[in-house]
Amino acid sequence: MHSPYIISASMLAADLSNLGEQIHEAEMAGADWIHVDVMDGHFVPNLTFGPVIIETCRKVTQLPLDVHLMVESPENLLASFARAGSTILSVHIETCPHLDCTVQAIHDLGCKAGVVLKPSTPVDLVVPFLPLVDLVLVLTVNPGYAGQVFLPQVLSKISALRLELDKIDHPIWLEVDGGINAATLPLVRNAGANVFVAATSIFNHPEGITSGIQQLRSQLTG
Ligand code: ZN
Repeated sequence: MHSPYIISASMLAADLSNLGEQIHEAEMAGADWIHVDVMDGHFVPNLTFGPVIIETCRKVTQLPLDVHLMVESPENLLASFARAGSTILSVHIETCPHLDCTVQAIHDLGCKAGVVLKPSTPVDLVVPFLPLVDLVLVLTVNPGYAGQVFLPQVLSKISALRLELDKIDHPIWLEVDGGINAATLPLVRNAGANVFVAATSIFNHPEGITSGIQQLRSQLTG
């Protein structure tokens, strides 16, 4: 039986000179999705990946590509990221004055739609849109860089979202991203999350990618 929990391995900490092998090892070790953090140097200070990296990932794996757009005006980029092979396109509510239209545009492109909240953004803002989306992503660090420390104050936000999502008559993923490791994973799972993004704790694990994923998975099955 498949686990009800998803581990989404984030390319942010992968060795890009060996991208294909890194994804293959993560997939063999049981990663369910591949998470790609797209940063534009405006919405967040860092600059990372464009559609080319999605195309590259798509060539080496059939796993769902879980694309997190930390960019201003994401509506301008949706088509190119969809064409590149994205499965899920998640946009920040802070960047979308017409979130319902943006979600519709993502669905029209044939992708699943996610909405993301920064740690400082209140849950209330997203509640009216929950029935429209396939996934809600709660950032558990301030966005921009891999390897940041988990902010425990977001646990109450995850619990509040879990209550709201359970009122809706179809399943919607509740994803967490930032500082997720074997120590923080049980906290966010108990608060109600079911998709866990991990970068450093997989790709920089001292015993390697397979051990990193096994250690996270053991926290979900124990
Ligand atoms: Zn992310």
